[in-house]
Parts: sequence; structure tokens; C-alpha cells
Amino acid sequence: MGETAEDFVLVINSGSSSIKYQLLDPESSVVAASGIVERIGEDDSVIQHRADGESAERREPIADHTAGLRLVFEMFAATGHDLRREGVRAVGHRVVHGGEVFYRPTLIDDDVAAAISDLSALAPLHNPANLAGIESARALLPGAPQVAVFDTAFFHGLPAAAKTYAIDAKVAAAHGIRKYGFHGTSHEYVSGRVAELLGRDPGELNQIVFHLGNGASASAIRGGRPVDTSMGLTPLEGLVMGTRPGDLDPGIVAHLARSAHLDIDQIDTLLNRDSGIKGLSGVNDFRELRRLIETGDEAARLAYDVYVHRLRRYLGAYLIELGGVDAITFTAGVGENSPQVRADALAGLARFGIEVDPAANTAENRAARRISPPDAPVAVLVVPTNEELAIARAARRVVDRLD
Ligand code: ADP
Repeated sequence: MGETAEDFVLVINSGSSSIKYQLLDPESSVVAASGIVERIGEDDSVIQHRADGESAERREPIADHTAGLRLVFEMFAATGHDLRREGVRAVGHRVVHGGEVFYRPTLIDDDVAAAISDLSALAPLHNPANLAGIESARALLPGAPQVAVFDTAFFHGLPAAAKTYAIDAKVAAAHGIRKYGFHGTSHEYVSGRVAELLGRDPGELNQIVFHLGNGASASAIRGGRPVDTSMGLTPLEGLVMGTRPGDLDPGIVAHLARSAHLDIDQIDTLLNRDSGIKGLSGVNDFRELRRLIETGDEAARLAYDVYVHRLRRYLGAYLIELGGVDAITFTAGVGENSPQVRADALAGLARFGIEVDPAANTAENRAARRISPPDAPVAVLVVPTNEELAIARAARRVVDRLD
């Protein structure tokens, strides 16, 4: 790979039964290797590893995250990157919830790990899984600085009016109830790229960013700082997502408990795994949804219409909150790959200066690009997100300060 592993940052995104990883140079953005461990804790675990253009696969039972990461390091060594011998500049960990405590990339020690664990009450599905990845990496690469990069951090400074839920203030304070926001690493990276692409100072731009993946969120950003975002205390609020409903009447929860006799865990599962596009249509992948719509499936059509309706509701709200917008940007799986969603989300808004050029919107192009007519007042863009690069750069900045 030219450089030695010491110049590289290993980025780890650890889920409950998976670990995604990338070894990359935060300066040049060169990715030396990447991969995923899946179905940890099951008999049919699998690791897919890519290094220097070659793919390798290993299938065997993997008991836990540490066993998975140990095998990953063996695969690295087999492709010429012996990370345990050569070391890495840093390990950057994606951590979903930083609560009120963490709002910048943080060097991990025992106290930080304990605090991330304490925040599990706010993110029971995510923080324990992130911590499993952290503990495994600390055990296997004890010499490498480990840095936590929080999904909530970018939104830490949201204005009080945007982050406060109108419930009993004492109850909210006692239980850490506020809007935290998620996908912050992506919203920050993408909005920064937009300013670069437009050749403008981020301080002078009003932006709306739609991160539309399996999870989906919108943000309103004024002068480089977020003033609102659609996800809340948890990643359930806001836009319609693959398996989550986004905004709901909170009365639905009590109604389900009383009328459907669901307990709180069943309701949590219904809202996290069986709602959204999947709940309405039976599929959560947008490509499958499009195929169903083409066959005339009415449930799929309705799911799509609800999805787009919600996007437009947030667009309208953020347009007014910002008092006008300079750039609207789409990113992540659906945002980058679905011209239909982009066109439908922004249809009929020329009177607000918002237009999409059909040829630019549908062109086969994976690069960051503008899809509005050149003379339109509002720039509409597609910008591929790169959370791994953003995490690697953040981790690198933290360790540079240690030198
Ligand atoms: P995650 O939130 O897991 O990081 P991604 O950003 O990878 O998710 O987005 C996954 C979503 O992107 C899925 O719903 C998938 O169907 C959708 N997607 C991926 N490629 C395309 C495509 N070519 N057209 C439409 N949707 C796509």
C-alpha cells in the first residue's frame, strides 16, 4: 500500500451482530482495506475482507466481537497489513449516543468507556454494541489510541427552542429527555463538502441536508451550525425510514398498550423493526419498493407517497426556520441513488427558487454534483457521504494533539 499501517486509521462501526471496518489514510482518503463481519454469535458467521482490490471471505462460527476482530486482523496480516505488529495511527469508533456528556471526538480510557456504557439507557440498541467493538479493539491493539466519534456530537449546540420537548421540564431534566439528533458525522461532512463544491464560505450558507439511508434524517444548518434536525432523543423521530415510522402521535404508544395489549418491548420492536416502509409495504429496501410499485402494488405506492410527503413537510419547515435556503443536498443510499425521490421531494417548488434539472438528476454519475439548473437560486446537490473518512479525520486530529 505504499505507506505503512502506522499512517492509517482503522475505523470501526460495531453493531449488535456485525462489525464494519475500514483502514484508511485520513489525509489522502486512500482506503487500504475494508470489510464486514456479520452474524456474530451465530453458527454461520462470515467475514468479507477487501484489500488492495482483492476480496477474501471466511465462514466459521464467531462467538463474539473480540473473536471476530481477531480473525479480521489475521485477514489483514494475510494481505500484507499486519496491524498488530505494525500498529496504526489510531482506531476511530463510531458511537451512536454521546448524550450531554460527549460532544467532540474523545480519546477513550476506562472512564470514557464507562460513560459510554452509562449512556446505554438512551440508546439500548446501539451503545452496548459500539462498546463491544471498543473493548475488542482495546484488547487486541493495546498500543493504539482509541477515539470515539459520536453521532450526536454535531447537534450538541442545537438552539433551546429546537431541542426542547414540551413535556414536564422536571421529568425531562431527570431523564435526559431532549432532542439529540443522529447521523451528525454525515450531516457535518456533507454540509462541509457542499461549501467546498460551491466555492463558498460555510459561514455564509443556509443549508438543508437529507441523509436518506435505511435510517433517514434531515438537518437545517445556518452558517455551518445546525439549527434543527429531525431525529430526536432516539433515532425514531422524523422522516419515514426503512423500518421506523418517524414522527407519530405519541398517543399511539398508550393506545397500543391498552388496546393491542403490547408491552413496552413489543412496542419498541414494532417501532424500530416493523414500521416505516417495511411496515407499510412488506419490504424495506428502496430498490424492492420501486419494483413493487412498477407491478402496480398499491401498498408500496402508498409507502412511497407517505415517505415523500414527510420529506416535503420537513423541507417546508426548515425552509421557514432558516428564512430561505442556499443549498439542498441529498446523501446516503436512497438520497444518492434515487433520482425519483429527489425529483418528487422538490417537485413544483420553482416559486421558491427550488428546481431540479431532469437530465442532471438522472445522469449516471457517482460523484458529488449539482443537479439544479445553473441559474437556479437554490443549489440542489447530490453528495456521497463518507462517515468513515470523517471519523478517521476526527480520530487523527485527536491523536495529533497528543504528540
Ligand atoms: P445505512 O443507513 O444502513 O447506512 P445506506 O445509506 O447504505 O444505509 O442506504 C440503504 C438504502 O439505500 C436501502 O434502502 C437501499 O435500498 C437504498 N439504495 C441503495 N442503492 C439504491 C439504488 N440504486 N436505488 C435506490 N435505492 C438504493
